[in-house]
Amino acid sequence: MSLNENQPSSNFIRQIVNNDLKQHKNNGRVITRFPPEPNGFLHIGHAKSICLNFGIAEEYNGSCNLRFDDTNPEKESIEFMEAIERDVSWLGFEWAKLASASDYFEQLYDYAIELINKGLAYVDSSSPEQIRHYRGTLTEPGRASPDRNRPIAENLDLFRRMRKGEFADGQYVLRAKIDMASPNINMRDPTLYRIRRVHHHRTGDAWCLYPMYDYTHCVSDALEGITHSLCTLEFEDHRPLYDWVLDNIDIDCHPQQIEFARLQLEYSIVSKRKLNQLVTEKHVTDWDDPRMPTLAGLRRAGYTSAAIRDFCERIGITKKDSWIEMAVLENCIREDLNHNAPRAMAVLRPLRVVIENYPNERVEYLELGNHPQRPELGSRKVEFAKVVLIEQDDFAQLPPPKFKRLIEGGEVRLRGAYVIRCDKVIQAEDGSIIELRCSYDPDTLGKNPEGRKVKGVIHWVSEQHSVPAVLRLYDRLFSHPNPDTLDNFLDALNPHSLEVLSDCRVESSLATAKPGSRFQFERTGYFCLDEEDTQPDKPVFNRTVTLRDSWEK
Ligand code: ATP
Ligand code: MG
Repeated sequence: MSLNENQPSSNFIRQIVNNDLKQHKNNGRVITRFPPEPNGFLHIGHAKSICLNFGIAEEYNGSCNLRFDDTNPEKESIEFMEAIERDVSWLGFEWAKLASASDYFEQLYDYAIELINKGLAYVDSSSPEQIRHYRGTLTEPGRASPDRNRPIAENLDLFRRMRKGEFADGQYVLRAKIDMASPNINMRDPTLYRIRRVHHHRTGDAWCLYPMYDYTHCVSDALEGITHSLCTLEFEDHRPLYDWVLDNIDIDCHPQQIEFARLQLEYSIVSKRKLNQLVTEKHVTDWDDPRMPTLAGLRRAGYTSAAIRDFCERIGITKKDSWIEMAVLENCIREDLNHNAPRAMAVLRPLRVVIENYPNERVEYLELGNHPQRPELGSRKVEFAKVVLIEQDDFAQLPPPKFKRLIEGGEVRLRGAYVIRCDKVIQAEDGSIIELRCSYDPDTLGKNPEGRKVKGVIHWVSEQHSVPAVLRLYDRLFSHPNPDTLDNFLDALNPHSLEVLSDCRVESSLATAKPGSRFQFERTGYFCLDEEDTQPDKPVFNRTVTLRDSWEK
């Protein structure tokens, strides 16, 4: 492995492409594809592949296709296709061609006939167990099936009748005739076709014979004129088969398969099978649950597509498996939202503050900037009145050392408004605090008080003007950094991955916010207005990420 391949940059694939272009390979064209199986929603790992495939195409003025790799009808659906199209578009990419492997079923069948005619494929009646048994192991060569030398004419006849539906599921398979002694087990006469009576979401019941992934993929690539077929490392051992198929059929394109390392993200799962299990067993609400590492989940949590593309850029492309820290992803969205999200005030757990020396009916409309560093993002009006709400934990009766917020007899600044002093704590019989009686210093709007320092600044909303809201505090779905390495990844589920706060109050300007819009709630985190669960009079905000990394050791 060269040094380059270890560097977190896409250099090693770019280098190959550069060399190819120098030699005027593929007539100087670069055509890639992103080939998801429509058996689930796309996750952050797919984003890496999407950014690579579409990114390389863009960079070299080429094109990239979106191709559904739909050869396992039992698990695939139109719903998943639509979700995938939505997510690729959302990430900001445009495919040159939208295709499905099932578009090529007829051509794939014809190429299989060609292989049979060349004596390079045969119909085998062995059971799956027998095939597995005969295949051998890493240390032992395989053994030939008794059907391996079936005459060509008989293979042709049986294969045609397989298509017609004359045989039961599993009664026969079509296998490539390659080398039962190959050190690469993928080359020991791999199965090309199996009989399966399953309704296909695109071809319906037209077929009961479905091609296998390895056979389908290379032919589909070649039919689309793909120049560079980028895939993850687990396909490295399949490359000889990829090449074997294309070398042995009459097709005038031979894409180059290049492997790169999958994304593995700490505290997360990037396997559609396991994500599917989380959904079907209801550990999450759905594929777009904001805790899910799916693109739909990340979007719903408030991630921007720019942050995800930035993440893919930062992690780079290598040939070596490694775990990426969750903080890398979280920092991408933090940086984006820190720069772009307007500020607003929300009180998560309200505590009533009555400002006794403030005139009863007065309301002041304070003009607060939307972003401390970016005046161009404008300002909004926030009402200030006699009764305001602050966070319960911004007041302490028994303050810990260095507590800079409100204490009895102490002062604090209300962000963008006045300095208040707590004169009296009103408590219920059980000791719980009902409200604080305070007074304000009218001389402190936008300026420091005379002769004394007030260090703390806390956020607040007007009781009368603020809007009730639900805030959903999402945290990492798993509390173990590598859930995938456990016997049961479900054991690593974080029991505190969601806390719902139903009695929050947000400033009135948020009443008209557009669903999907994102904010930094002062001092509490980044939030996104949920598009699905928000009601006209009850906004629901999802926490995208905390202001700082609280998982840091
Ligand atoms: P999963 O195990 O989640 O189902 P997959 O590889 O089976 O993943 P596909 O829909 O077949 O999912 O993947 C489409 C493309 O995305 C493939 O080229 C695959 O290599 C790539 N891909 C999938 N997961 C990752 C990942 N974690 N990192 C990078 N690329 C990935
Ligand atoms: Mg797959």
